[in-house]
Amino acid sequence: MKLNKSLEEKGKEKSKLNPKRRKKCYRCEVESNIMYRVQYKEQKVWCFICKSCLVSIKPNNPHYRYGGTWKR
Ligand SMILES: [Zn+2]
Repeated sequence: MKLNKSLEEKGKEKSKLNPKRRKKCYRCEVESNIMYRVQYKEQKVWCFICKSCLVSIKPNNPHYRYGGTWKR
C-alpha cells in the first residue's frame, strides 16, 4: 500500500462522511457489518458484497470465488 499517505490526505473530507471501517456492497451499495470478499465476474476482480447479493450471484456462477469474510 504505497499510496496510503496521499490517499489519506486526499480523502480527508470524504472520511468524515465515510469512515474507514465501513464498506458498501459493490452491487447494491448497502452498508453491512459483514461483507463477503468475492470474485463473481469474468474480469476476476475482488469486490465486497453483502449477504443477499452473495446469495443471488453464487448459484451456478462459474466465476464465483470466495476470498474471505470482512467484519466491522
Ligand atoms: Zn448487496
